[in-house]
Amino acid sequence: MAVLELPQSSKPLVSVTVVSVICASLMVIRSDNFSVLTAIFLFFLSGFFADMLTAFFHFGFDYVFPYSMPIFGPIAREFRAHHEQPTLDPSDYVVNLTKGAYPSLPVSLIGILVSWLGGDSLGMFLLGGTVTGMSIWALFFHQIHAYAHMGSHLHPEQFNARVAEISQLADQREQIRQFDRLFDTLPIPKVIRLLQRWRILLNPAVHNLHHIKFESDFSSVNGWSDPLTNPIFGMIARSYKQRHMTQD
Ligand SMILES: [Zn+2]
Ligand SMILES: [Zn+2]
Repeated sequence: MAVLELPQSSKPLVSVTVVSVICASLMVIRSDNFSVLTAIFLFFLSGFFADMLTAFFHFGFDYVFPYSMPIFGPIAREFRAHHEQPTLDPSDYVVNLTKGAYPSLPVSLIGILVSWLGGDSLGMFLLGGTVTGMSIWALFFHQIHAYAHMGSHLHPEQFNARVAEISQLADQREQIRQFDRLFDTLPIPKVIRLLQRWRILLNPAVHNLHHIKFESDFSSVNGWSDPLTNPIFGMIARSYKQRHMTQD
């Protein structure tokens, strides 16, 4: 029996999600608690939690969810295929935003509900603002991930050979430096490259550390949560691989 699968591309879904995210954002902006200070705070807080959420799901798709599981199974298959063929296209806007809309729509609806129930309470404002911020990051997570794979614009063999070479380096800081140099040679839009270098958006140098062994750096938004999740996910991933190696 075929496993239930979500469509790869849906303009109506993206449109509904954009409207929902705008409504949730307007409710936050119109609150009396909204100021430059709370906006900056919410930006970083929502960025951290959205990043961590993508790390948890990515880890699940790589190691936990079976292919036979409805909805999640086909996504897990796609994630593992992405390891074999790490090429994504940032100009595939509708596909990238559709993938972002799946988590973003429910999260933005929760944001609307929290802001609506919250009234003047500062705590509820911060909760609603964080959830709403997460829905914005979530909408763009796959577009951000695709920008971290601009290596697809280089000849794949040439790119993969360079990545393989860098992955041989023993020092991780040197790996990041070499990846940075490699990605500076690619046609990534200047603003995006700047945000990547400032670590506001997922830095390809960091994301490609995931693509060396698939044991670390699972996040897909900005990498802020990796230092916290890497030790736990790394340990589980290594023991999973060892178990499967002894079974084979
Ligand atoms: Zn992965
Ligand atoms: Zn990737």
